[in-house]
Amino acid sequence: MRGLRIHPLLKEIAAIFSRRGKQVFLVGGAVRDMFRGKDAQDWDLATDALPEEVILMFPKVIPTGIKHGTVTVRYKGYSLEVTTFRTESEYHDGRRPNKVDYAATIEADLSRRDFTMNAIALSLPEGRKVDPFDGVGDIKRRIIRCVGNPAERFGEDGLRPLRAVRFASQLGFNIEDATLSAVNPSLRITAKVAAERIRDEIDKIIGSPKPSRAFLLMEKTGLLELLLPELARCRNIEQKGFHRFDVLDHSLLACDRAAQKSWSAAVRLAALFHDIGKPETRLLDASGIWTFYQHERVSAELVRKILARFRYSNEVVDRAVHLIKEHMFYYEEIWIDAAVRRFIIRVGEENLPDLYRLRMADAYAAAGKPPPKDFLLPLIRRVDKALAGGRAFSLKDLQIDGTDLIGIGVKAGPSIGIILRELLETVVDDPALNTKEKLLEIARNLNLRYRSG
Ligand code: ATP
Ligand code: MG
Repeated sequence: MRGLRIHPLLKEIAAIFSRRGKQVFLVGGAVRDMFRGKDAQDWDLATDALPEEVILMFPKVIPTGIKHGTVTVRYKGYSLEVTTFRTESEYHDGRRPNKVDYAATIEADLSRRDFTMNAIALSLPEGRKVDPFDGVGDIKRRIIRCVGNPAERFGEDGLRPLRAVRFASQLGFNIEDATLSAVNPSLRITAKVAAERIRDEIDKIIGSPKPSRAFLLMEKTGLLELLLPELARCRNIEQKGFHRFDVLDHSLLACDRAAQKSWSAAVRLAALFHDIGKPETRLLDASGIWTFYQHERVSAELVRKILARFRYSNEVVDRAVHLIKEHMFYYEEIWIDAAVRRFIIRVGEENLPDLYRLRMADAYAAAGKPPPKDFLLPLIRRVDKALAGGRAFSLKDLQIDGTDLIGIGVKAGPSIGIILRELLETVVDDPALNTKEKLLEIARNLNLRYRSG
């Protein structure tokens, strides 16, 4: 193995600890990544200094998790999580420990960590390895193994099984047999874990190179049934025609395809859940073919509930739901220009790239191979042409606004929005009407109609 290079900044920080007679170690993901030959994403440090002492050592320290013995040190533009050596003696209901017990040694601190690959420390500044559980060997063998007894470790914190499958998809490692077998018996502990912590793991899974690896392990161990029963139900929902896979494998393949660095969480979630309404809507038609009428609407409703359950932000929920609702568009050359404009307005100009991405992932996952290169091109060309025409695609493109309406006597309130939307419809059909004069005239008539009707 090549020599491990300790970053000069870490040596500088170590000197500050040494001056006070304190030990400090690099721990966690950064060490794991160094032994994998990868650059670390962020640095976690462990020390025998107490949080109050660390606060006095650096000018800028944020007490991010002081209850758990963690503070964040800001140093020369870097952020480092510094945690005092600790053990976790008391656990309640599979949640985080409700009390911190500080430990005397780095070895004691490492023994409370979840997996052997995460329980390696490098002393700073010299880089001496402390590896009591052969984490380095497990990294070489590409194995995820609990530190100590897996059943006990999962019993202490029900998030750990999910972390195991997340690391499996992030790193492409296998989960060791005893560790994997301990997942199912501890599901009732996992059931009590806070939704936000689970959401963070789901986010890391769908951002990993191959999310399906984690989801299939979740299915095998019962985690999927526990956390995402709606997805588990998609197993063995066959769909013939141009589909090669059942709904679950199709969804996972779409999610794998959507796991591209520059793609948003909303697209990834939409890819994973776009067909989740299929089990509910499936019907055999007269000719013996499975149909899924309106599944995009049912999927959208279901996914809103699922994402809310995991406390996703409203913004992510709305975007994923919208993409799912619109994912079944069916473009044909006979669309008139107004139909193209209507499509743009319904989807929203800003959502078009994401919708194309979702559709490409969906098409890939139906056939099990990339769709023809030009598969969406005819639609994209028409859309781009319409957009280049510089016509009205949203209310703000109209030549008049609410104030103008009030100026001609429309009552402030909901009727403003109703009239503006109706004007937009009119303009989509006939862009030449988008002048102040013409719109005001139409608005006057609409207003009369509302007031008399
Ligand atoms: P990444 O930051 O890439 O998700 P990481 O291994 O750094 O990976 P963190 O969540 O940042 O993971 O945690 C840092 C370290 O703290 C881990 O490597 C592990 O040693 C320990 N750790 C984190 N969560 C747990 C847990 N639930 N149980 C036991 N140890 C944990
Ligand atoms: Mg980390």
